[in-house]
Amino acid sequence: MSRKTCGCGADHFDRRAALATMGAGLASALGVTRAQAKAARSPVRPEDEGYMRLAIAEAAKGDFPFGAVIVRDGKVVSTGRNLGVTNNDPTAHGEMVAIRRFVADNPAKELKGATLYTSGEPCPMCMGAIVWCGIGRVVYAASIEQLSKRLGQIMITSKAVAKATPFLTVEITGGVLATEALALFAKK
Ligand SMILES: [Zn+2]
Repeated sequence: MSRKTCGCGADHFDRRAALATMGAGLASALGVTRAQAKAARSPVRPEDEGYMRLAIAEAAKGDFPFGAVIVRDGKVVSTGRNLGVTNNDPTAHGEMVAIRRFVADNPAKELKGATLYTSGEPCPMCMGAIVWCGIGRVVYAASIEQLSKRLGQIMITSKAVAKATPFLTVEITGGVLATEALALFAKK
């Protein structure tokens, strides 16, 4: 699934506006708020569960149970798990580790249009990194809201960061294998 990355803006804004209109119509039909309708914009794809299992397997080995994999053209190109304690680096979240590993060996521009799978919804730091890298799609398991009941979280959703980014559209899919991801906290 390739995405346009021409940078011209016009086409993307038109598409976004069209999606917003569709979303609002759907929202009123379903009786939900506009914000909730927008959150459900990117549906789960058949391959999502398999890649999420890999992210959860990474999470199981992390200092804190968070893991991520980056997929491009149907191939896993990087993996990461939380190494905050191991690396003495509070920014070593699973997503950051996966991104840093990728760019250590590959041109950063190859992240454009990639998909990042993560066992926990990206925090604002990781979501910012995802945006700066031009990653086109994020799939997460447990939401920030769910994670906040286990561990302190910054209560800004990945969707809020994406919505505040005028130069890029990031598709977001949440809730894939959330129960499995949350179960890792019980084992710690
Ligand atoms: Zn993070």
